[in-house]
Amino acid sequence: MIIRKKRLTSFLLALILGLVLTRVMFETITDEIAIFGFHDIINLDNPNELPPKRSEFDGDYTKQDLEKFIDSLVLDNYWFLSSQELYDYFLSVNKKKIPDEHKGQKKVMLTVDDGYKDAHVNLMSLAESIEEKYGKKIKIVWFLNPSFLGINGVELDHASCEDLRTGLEKGFYDLQSHGANHKDLTTLKVKDLEKELLNSQQILKECTQDLDPNKTVASHIAYPFGEVNDQVEKYVSKYYLSGYLYNNLPLKLGWWSRNNYRIPRVSIHSRIPVKKLVWIASGGWL
Ligand SMILES: [Zn+2]
Repeated sequence: MIIRKKRLTSFLLALILGLVLTRVMFETITDEIAIFGFHDIINLDNPNELPPKRSEFDGDYTKQDLEKFIDSLVLDNYWFLSSQELYDYFLSVNKKKIPDEHKGQKKVMLTVDDGYKDAHVNLMSLAESIEEKYGKKIKIVWFLNPSFLGINGVELDHASCEDLRTGLEKGFYDLQSHGANHKDLTTLKVKDLEKELLNSQQILKECTQDLDPNKTVASHIAYPFGEVNDQVEKYVSKYYLSGYLYNNLPLKLGWWSRNNYRIPRVSIHSRIPVKKLVWIASGGWL
């Protein structure tokens, strides 16, 4: 009986060790990219961005914490990917060769949804101060609802076309689509779905046409509310090169085929400390 028990224990130990080793091997041969999804960015030094002048939202993140996070990424020599770079070097079937200056670099993507004015003001100031400090340009991928450009919301105001053009011109912004009106695309009839997808593209391209020589603006989309189904994917794939979700998973790159219309993103809210963001960027789990 004792021998049997011992054998069982050894077997279980070997099994666990085997599983751990498989996991470690899998992790070492796959490359991972964390794609962060922010919403509004607020400056704790500006009373207009704090209660009682402005309500707090779960999706807010402070400029002060974001600066600490970006500082640590820059010091750790991360490559801040644009949506087109992610597509060209890692997602496309005809992948481009990674430029020498990016070889061996760790990768990250910072995305910001919904196009709020405060986020724009604070991100521009952050990007400029990072450039001044380190001589490096960071890239912010915006997923925008172009029908709301420059519109003052009931709660939050939106950045204007002119605001976004400034960030694009300075090389900090990558402007992409989040549907024209932030509608849940899975609830729309085909005609309305196509309208949401095309209007969004048209307005953004018109806003930036003289600043977008490579035609990368509005080539990628993040689904409003992270909602997607087969019909949405079918029509999105007619007009866009890739589609982004919210599922709190990192993007794993390997030999297997991947669906470029279900790119994972990690949703960030005010309760996630900087330390955790750094951990997620380095391949840790949420
Ligand atoms: Zn949104």
